Amino acid sequence: MKTAVGQVSLPAKGEGPQTVSLYEKWKKIYPLWVSGGFQTWRRVVLVILLAIFYVSPWLRYDGQPGVWFDLEHRRFTVLWATFVPEEFVLLSWLLVIAALTLFAVTVAAGRIFCGWACPQTVWSLVYFSIERWVEGDRNARLRLDKGKWNRNRLTRKAIKYSLWALVAFSISLTFVGLFTPIRELIPRILTLELSGWERVALVLPAAGSFLMSGVLREQVCFHMCPYARFQSVMFDHDTLIISYDEERGEPRGARRRSADPTEVGLGSCVDCRKCVNVCPTGIDIRDGLQYQCIGCAACIDACTDVMSTMGYGESLVRYSTQNRDEGQGRHWLRPRLFGYAGLILVMLGIFSYSITHRVPLGFDVIRDRNRLYRQDWDGSVENVYTLRISNRAATEQTYEIGFSSSLPLTYDGPATIRVGGGDLRSLPVRLLLGGEAAGSAESSEVRFLVQPSDDPDMQIEKVSRFHLPKAGLP
Ligand code: SF4
Ligand code: SF4
Repeated sequence: MKTAVGQVSLPAKGEGPQTVSLYEKWKKIYPLWVSGGFQTWRRVVLVILLAIFYVSPWLRYDGQPGVWFDLEHRRFTVLWATFVPEEFVLLSWLLVIAALTLFAVTVAAGRIFCGWACPQTVWSLVYFSIERWVEGDRNARLRLDKGKWNRNRLTRKAIKYSLWALVAFSISLTFVGLFTPIRELIPRILTLELSGWERVALVLPAAGSFLMSGVLREQVCFHMCPYARFQSVMFDHDTLIISYDEERGEPRGARRRSADPTEVGLGSCVDCRKCVNVCPTGIDIRDGLQYQCIGCAACIDACTDVMSTMGYGESLVRYSTQNRDEGQGRHWLRPRLFGYAGLILVMLGIFSYSITHRVPLGFDVIRDRNRLYRQDWDGSVENVYTLRISNRAATEQTYEIGFSSSLPLTYDGPATIRVGGGDLRSLPVRLLLGGEAAGSAESSEVRFLVQPSDDPDMQIEKVSRFHLPKAGLP
């Protein structure tokens, strides 16, 4: 029997071979909207994160942008501190600290990042809120999708996708606004005067967001997110998980509200499936911890609502730990947690020291390695250097340039140079040694000095060499 890619032919009992797909069919999930304590806090976190994202490219103080990744001039501004390429190691440290914090949070609180702060979850919730607003809650959406393509369905889908497109475009605009000044970008969008990369950068994140957070949603967590795959190795028996209280809940079953569960031989779970219907990944948490659970706590709020209606007390689904579920106490002093916390503290200490002792001036001297010196007809010798001065401050600065040497050298170059905030300038200069002195001198060390004209205490010195013919090649 011929099978297509992703299919396999298996013998079935009493019948001929059967072709089955190796891939599970995508079942669209229709989560029920849920309110409650955890969801209120989740929405507060969502608003804060969205505010940080949308406000970042608009931040300005004293004419300076607060956040700007200026790729053209290779300088990154984060909260008015400008970093040049030589300082990118600081940004790398920041990323390492963020990664370690994420690992520590995972050890302590499981998938709390996935459910509360992951951009995919946050944006999915935004798209889902729009969907619910336009198409209604779970049952209405189910009815709509099962129904015919009539005017009502077409109109609702058109409105939903248009609003999604607007959200997607706002994400792109804000994202590109981190790389190019957003106040200049918006008029250029309106007059269609965009560069090639700006057009691509506006379309790609919008398309990605629309597809990932609007259409695919939980599929991204199931099949694409690498973090979802490896974070379980960080879990231990004291990691916070969302779990179902089997002892109280089982045996589950429907009953009248007035019925006493012990009399009807049932546990507290009324098998209403509300915890399943609210789940954005469509799982039943009563089946135990599953990798699809993103820790959004929607099922906790759903069950809290049911339990309070029934008068049965606390939610059957709760934040717990494996140890707690097995009737043991919680251990706070865990080596792995201390290991991560220690590493984070050390990294934070080094990072804070580097930031507070950061010199807002970078200086380098580069020699032309192909031509160490040039000798003139009268015996005088000339060495050429390139001084690279980078102003790591946000404002323009004037720098004084000096040099010192044991040789009677003459400096041929500007005495001062102006460098814009966050800019880097390269300045070719020459040192000359007269023919008489060059005849008896030997290759010697030279020191170049740079200092801001308004801050003589901040002086940077770089050592180079003055080469002479007698010294030969290095
Ligand atoms: S919401 Fe609570 S009572 Fe309802 S099925 Fe889930 S665990 Fe059982
Ligand atoms: S099982 Fe509960 S916490 Fe996990 S994803 Fe579903 S609703 Fe969220």
